[in-house]
Amino acid sequence: MTLHERLKSVDVPVSTFENVMKQFDQAASKLNIARELLEFIKYPRRSTIVKLPVQMDDGSFRMFTGYRVQHSIVRGPAKGGIRFHPDVTLDEVQALASWMTWKCAVVNIPFGGGKGGVACDPSKMSRGELERLTRRYTADLIDLFGPERDIPAPDVNTNEQTMAWIMDTFSMHERTTVTSVVTGKPLVLGGSAGRREATGVGVVITVREALKHLGLEASRCTAAVQGFGNVGSVAALYLHRLGVKVTHISDVYGGLYNPGGIDVEELVKYAAKHKNIVGFAGANAFDGDQILFADVDILVPAALENQITVENASRVKAKIVAEGANGPVTPDADPILVEKGVFVIPDILCNAGGVTVSYFEWVQDRMGYFWSEEDVLVRLEKIMTYAFQDVLKVALENKVHLRLAAFMVAIQRVVDVVMLRGIYA
Ligand code: NAD
Repeated sequence: MTLHERLKSVDVPVSTFENVMKQFDQAASKLNIARELLEFIKYPRRSTIVKLPVQMDDGSFRMFTGYRVQHSIVRGPAKGGIRFHPDVTLDEVQALASWMTWKCAVVNIPFGGGKGGVACDPSKMSRGELERLTRRYTADLIDLFGPERDIPAPDVNTNEQTMAWIMDTFSMHERTTVTSVVTGKPLVLGGSAGRREATGVGVVITVREALKHLGLEASRCTAAVQGFGNVGSVAALYLHRLGVKVTHISDVYGGLYNPGGIDVEELVKYAAKHKNIVGFAGANAFDGDQILFADVDILVPAALENQITVENASRVKAKIVAEGANGPVTPDADPILVEKGVFVIPDILCNAGGVTVSYFEWVQDRMGYFWSEEDVLVRLEKIMTYAFQDVLKVALENKVHLRLAAFMVAIQRVVDVVMLRGIYA
C-alpha cells in the first residue's frame, strides 16, 4: 500500500496541494517539457511561516500562526489573497498560491502566484484585534511584500479594510504612501472601479463564449447559481442580463426556485436589505443542497470548494459547469463529468476576472491615473475572451477537456519565460 492509500484508508483528508499537483502532472504529461524544468516550476519557490503575538482587548496576548507562500515569481511579482480562517494550513496556502500562478498565466497578466493566511477565527475577534493581527502579520513579512515583489489582496474573511491596514503598515515602514502594494483596496485609497463585479462578470463572459462554442442560445438556456455572495450574485445578475433564465439560486441559508426565471435585479436589492435570499417573494423555497443537481443548462458553483465530488458528480444534469468558486469540482469527479459530456469551464479560467482587475488596479496605482468603470469592463472583456479562445484552441487541437487545456496553456507560458530567462545557477 502506498503512503497515499494508507492516508486515505485512515480517513485523513487528501492534501489540497496534492490535488493541484495532480492537475499539474496530468497537463504536464501532454507537453514536451524536461522533467527538471517541470520540477522547478511545480513547487512553491518560498514558503514562510511566522508566529505572531497579538495583544487582545482584555490585555492578554495570544499567539497566531501566519503563512505567506510565493509559488512563482517567474512571470512577475507574486500575486494572491490573504485568508483569515481557523482551518488555514500551509498545505492549503501552497495549493492556493499554486492556482494563482496558473490563473495569472492563463489570462496572461504579468504576475506570478502567491497566497497568505492566518489561522484565526475572525468571528470571535474585535475590529481592534483584527487590525493588530493584520499589522503584525504585515510587519513580520514586510521584506517579502512590495509592488515589485509580492502583492496581497482580500480572500476569505479579509476585505477592503484589511487591505487598507496592510497598505498603511507597509507605507509607514517605507516612509511614503505605497498604494500598489495591495489590491482590493477601497476606491478612495487607490482601488479600481469595477473590482467588486470583476469575478462575476468574468464568469459570465466565459459562459457566453462557451454557449457560442456549443451552439446554444442564451435566451433558450436556464441556469442555477450556488452562492449569492460577491461572485454568485454578480454572475447571476449578468446571466439574467444576458437573457439566460436563472431558475435556481442558493446561499448558505436556503434555496430559491422559479421555473419562469428569478428576477435577479430584484433579488440583489432584497439580499442587500435582508443579508440573505430566504423569504424573497418572487420565487419558491427549495432545499439549497440540491442545487448542484438542478435540471438546468448552466450550473455556476460560486460558494465553496469540493462541492461536486466522486459521490455526486453523476447526478449533475447541467450541460455547462462554470467554476465561479475555486476548486468546486474535485479531481476525482472531473472524469465523471467529462464522461457525461459536461463542458466544465475551469476555475483558473472562469473566475480569473478578479485577479485581472486586480492587475488593472496595480497598473492604475503605479500610473496614478484612474479609469472609469466602463474602461475597466471593456479591458476585462478583452482579456477574458482572449483567454477563453486560447484555452479552447489548445483543447480542440489536443482533444482534451478545458481544465487540462487551461493548465497546458499556463504551464507552457511559465516555461517559455523560464527558457528565455535561464536558470541562474
Ligand atoms: P462570499 O463570501 O461573498 O460569498 C459566498 C456565498 O456562498 C454566500 O452567499 C454564502 O451564503 C454562500 N454559501 C456558503 N456556503 C454555502 C452552501 N453550503 N450552499 C450554498 N451557498 C453557500 O464569497 P465570494 O467572494 O463570492 O467567493 C465565492 C468563491 O469564489 C470562493 O471559492 C472564492 O475563493 C472564489 N473566488 C472569489 C473571487 C472574488 O473576487 N471574490 C475571485 C476568485 C475566486
